[in-house]
Amino acid sequence: MREVVIVGASLAGTRTAEALRRAGYDGTLTLVGREPHPPYDRPPLTKAALVRGPELESLVLPSTVDLDARWITGHWATDLDLTDRHLRLDTGERLRFDGLVIATGASARRLRPSGVGPLVHHIRTFEDCVQLHQALAAPDQKVLVIGAGLLGSEVASVAVARGHRVTLVEATEGPMLGALGPEISAYCARLHRARGVELRTSTVVLSLSPETWRGKKATAVLEDRSSGDRWAARADVVVAALGTVPETGWLRESGLDSDGGVRTDGSLTALDRYGVPVAGVVAVGDVARAPQPLVGGIARRVEHWTAAAGHAEIAAATLLGSAAAGSAPVPSFGTEQHGFEIRAVGLPGVGDATTVVDGTLEDHRFVAKRTLRGRLVGAVAVNHTAGLTPYRAELERQTARTPEATPGGK
Ligand SMILES: Cc1cc2nc3c(=O)[nH]c(=O)nc-3n(C[C@H](O)[C@H](O)[C@H](O)COP(=O)(O)OP(=O)(O)OC[C@H]3O[C@@H](n4cnc5c(N)ncnc54)[C@H](O)[C@@H]3O)c2cc1C
Repeated sequence: MREVVIVGASLAGTRTAEALRRAGYDGTLTLVGREPHPPYDRPPLTKAALVRGPELESLVLPSTVDLDARWITGHWATDLDLTDRHLRLDTGERLRFDGLVIATGASARRLRPSGVGPLVHHIRTFEDCVQLHQALAAPDQKVLVIGAGLLGSEVASVAVARGHRVTLVEATEGPMLGALGPEISAYCARLHRARGVELRTSTVVLSLSPETWRGKKATAVLEDRSSGDRWAARADVVVAALGTVPETGWLRESGLDSDGGVRTDGSLTALDRYGVPVAGVVAVGDVARAPQPLVGGIARRVEHWTAAAGHAEIAAATLLGSAAAGSAPVPSFGTEQHGFEIRAVGLPGVGDATTVVDGTLEDHRFVAKRTLRGRLVGAVAVNHTAGLTPYRAELERQTARTPEATPGGK
């Protein structure tokens, strides 16, 4: 392999570049990134950077490897031709490759009711964070956060701590329900309410308009799905945190299976529409729909920092044909909400039972394990990260011995 092109120059892309060089790859390396910035860290965008105000220098991802790469930033790949092994950029330039790393991540799912576009904040990029931080600068505003997943919950937590009146609207029965399961979601709901967030679960936004009323800039019509009640909520700032959409538009004509993310096998080799691995093409990070050993090898995207970083070694080993590809990292993520540190390993959301194994919810220091038909699939800790260690180890044992975790797996 002499020419590797990496599309997407953020966490997963640059970590894969580093892993390739560390593994001895000495051919050409080209990184294409749509953002004009050096690669930076996204998790602080809804945490410290949103509190203090984002500064790019402090977010830039550190690197210890001299990549000796060509960087093409501020430009993007528009289409991919796998027959002739080249891709095209928005500038018209053709880039030939014999190894391709697809690391284009995801973008925020947009809420676009007519007429309110500029009113609604989404949060994925540095610029999004700058704008939201500015919008939250005036005191005592009414903030409507739509979506109580990880990002919406964090934004609500920051906004209420800054003295704003926050309404957090969630379509399911609880915040972060899909990630943590019902019992810990209910715990998070209590945290929000105790800190003064008006949390509305099972509630959807029917419409959002730039109607001005008593100085408020937007009016949302909300509906409680369980009671059928409808009411109007006014807001100065609206934040839509509706999850993400994988950045696969440029792959539409490529023949790869890219619906809902680029489907890969256990070695992160991309699969075509017939499920056949395409040699020399790997997908990493948020865009990759890789088999998850914890759920029987079903392919799904895991949008966690550790997954994006952890894919790098596997993808590099796969491209270089080395045997050391190993197995996908056990998913894990952390969040801070209302001053409480919440950490999760595995896929707690897919479980069907919760058992508190250490501490108590009342003391705000506990570890709860999540099982699916009696088998451990994840664990969650609040203010007790060290308590996760045995569960992480057990999940690592499970994923290491599952055939789907190995290259060539489902
Ligand atoms: C606000 C926020 C908070 C988060 N908090 C946490 C957290 O607490 N814990 C956690 O585990 N995870 C968190 N995450 C998720 C974590 O940041 C992601 O999992 C990680 O950034 C994924 O990295 P990636 O490189 O795969 O994708 P991305 O970071 O999305 O990078 C993809 C890059 O590819 C570029 N690109 C897209 N299309 C093209 C194209 N056609 N051509 C060229 N370039 C292209 C994009 O512009 C982008 O720069 C958070 C994410 C956000 C947005």
